[in-house]
Amino acid sequence: MSCIFCKIAAGEIPSAKLYEDEEIVIFKDIEPKAKIHLLCVPKDHFATLAELNDERSALLGRTFAKIARLRDGLGLTGGYRLIVNQGEDAGQTVHHLHIHILGGEPLPW
Ligand code: 5GP
Ligand code: ZN
Repeated sequence: MSCIFCKIAAGEIPSAKLYEDEEIVIFKDIEPKAKIHLLCVPKDHFATLAELNDERSALLGRTFAKIARLRDGLGLTGGYRLIVNQGEDAGQTVHHLHIHILGGEPLPW
């Protein structure tokens, strides 16, 4: 398995993990674009939203709810921005679906 986020999720590559459960992991982005820049990665490997099915749609719904619940513990009480890059024009470099979580300061648009 050559996917870097699968390896991070499996603990085969070290990362600064802030949260983990049976279906997602949240860790610090290695090149932060804001004071707080986290990546939320479902353990299920799929590249883009084009690969959603009912099960994955439900997984993403639970994932958004978890991010909202974890807000304060992640240091995001003041608010946060979620970004899901899709494909080339968005600059997606890791082809395992992930949600960028940005915050910790007022964010420029
Ligand atoms: P994308 O551009 O695909 O939406 O975002 C990929 C993100 O993964 C980038 O922000 C990049 O900094 C981050 N990233 C890439 N490799 C690693 C890594 O090995 N560890 C961590 N923590 N983040 C990574
Ligand atoms: Zn993967």
